[in-house]
Amino acid sequence: MTSSTLGLTRGDLLRSDAYINGAWTDAADGQRFDVTNPATGAVLATVPLMTQTETRAAIAAAAAALPAWRARTAKDRSALLMRWYRLIMENQEDLARLLTLEQGKPLAEARGEIAYGASFIEWFAEEGKRAYGDVIPAHKPGARLLVLKQPVGVVGAITPWNFPNAMITRKIAPALAVGCTAVVKPAEATPLSALALAVLAEEAGIPAGVLNIVTGDPARIGQELTGNPIVRKISFTGSTRVGQLLMAQCAEGVKKVSLELGGNAPFIVFDDADLDAAVVGALASKYRNSGQTCVCANRFLVQSGVYDAFAEKFAEAIRKLNVGDGLTAGVTQGPLINQVAVNKVESLLADAVAKGGRIVTGGTPHALGGLFFEPTLVADVPTTARIAKEEVFGPVAPLFRFETEADAIAMANDTEYGLAAYFYARDLGRVWRVAEALEYGMVGINDGMISTEVAPFGGIKASGTGREGSKYGLNDYLEIKYLAMSA
Ligand code: NAD
Repeated sequence: MTSSTLGLTRGDLLRSDAYINGAWTDAADGQRFDVTNPATGAVLATVPLMTQTETRAAIAAAAAALPAWRARTAKDRSALLMRWYRLIMENQEDLARLLTLEQGKPLAEARGEIAYGASFIEWFAEEGKRAYGDVIPAHKPGARLLVLKQPVGVVGAITPWNFPNAMITRKIAPALAVGCTAVVKPAEATPLSALALAVLAEEAGIPAGVLNIVTGDPARIGQELTGNPIVRKISFTGSTRVGQLLMAQCAEGVKKVSLELGGNAPFIVFDDADLDAAVVGALASKYRNSGQTCVCANRFLVQSGVYDAFAEKFAEAIRKLNVGDGLTAGVTQGPLINQVAVNKVESLLADAVAKGGRIVTGGTPHALGGLFFEPTLVADVPTTARIAKEEVFGPVAPLFRFETEADAIAMANDTEYGLAAYFYARDLGRVWRVAEALEYGMVGINDGMISTEVAPFGGIKASGTGREGSKYGLNDYLEIKYLAMSA
């Protein structure tokens, strides 16, 4: 399709070549793959199906660009990043449209993602100037002990399809701000948003080779990024399965890794909660992006005393969601990303119902057909259901009943994951006890939307390692060097 068919004001934001060393590049053998619109099935573009060869070239370009980029002042890099940030915001509407077209989320959410993605660039443009070291009081007379923080070098970033813009900027902004260069492999479902970001990075004046985007075969590109000794760090966001694989592949070269993986977020509603606020939080946390968010509430644990009232209010709010093509005005829930995702939702839901779950609303594919699914609430789900352990990654909210605070904490922690957790309560003693007892990297307290560039995002256990955003996010791209000087 052409950019005008897609309704873009700026046609050049639709690119169908990869971006290596400042040049728009095809695969060495000319092979390509389709990028489709999940709402309609229409092919939007074809992009290069690259493998090791092109990835090696991109890594070489990043290595060649590294000395000059690293040598610039932080202020100089910051100025370029700020220019990139402003260009993204100036083109927010086109970028959001492209994102909705390839990913499916409602346009309003896509606009939100562009602003959220850009916020990392703005924030790290500033924070990169503050990658301070230390002077340590010496342990012997005349000695001088110093700590320098230096960029890790060439970074390989592999990102998922659910946030095609923000998952890239959350990695690339801190990397570039401290002087690293990067090779990005976007998800095969959503490369167009990544390529549009590269168009604007180039326009902002970010030099050739500093940011490279390689599209194509995940396993073969991943092998090169993890196996090539020039790459000093891998930053990955995606499933736990692939994260484990990449971590194993990085073991031989002892590369630094940051992994943002899957979750199984509990959303706990205690008897003393403000139920209306809990419903607002539950709706945002569960149905945003059709439930395809790593921090999405996956299990609703509701205390007996408010169980029925919460179920009723939540169902009422869910029934007001409007399913359709994300480009249609008023739509609040788009399609799922592909048929595999729909099958997974159906299978986990069927299992919950077979084990005693009761559908309160939804429960079936949507009348629109294709990849659309009814926003669903299923109550009385037993903890033996698969959905209690597995990420559903779709618009299904299962309700589990609990009696005591201790039960809720035990149920919430009974998972291999540890990304985000949420709870609603008003008793101050309970708020502290529960916040401290939850084994998670992030806890939303009376809040269903916790992501922001200013706070550390990341998980524990099988949800990953490392943090993104905030001053902590900078550390993932810095090496510590200790200097010991004798008199
Ligand atoms: P995925 O793991 O299938 O894919 C993620 C990325 O890895 C894609 O770019 C994909 O092409 C690539 N990939 C796949 N196989 C690979 C291989 N063998 N070698 C190298 N790269 C490979 O995950 P997904 O389905 O795209 O995303 C959904 C998952 O991501 C969910 O589990 C979700 O919870 C998680 N996620 C986590 C966070 C977080 O910050 N913790 C954020 C968003 C999504």
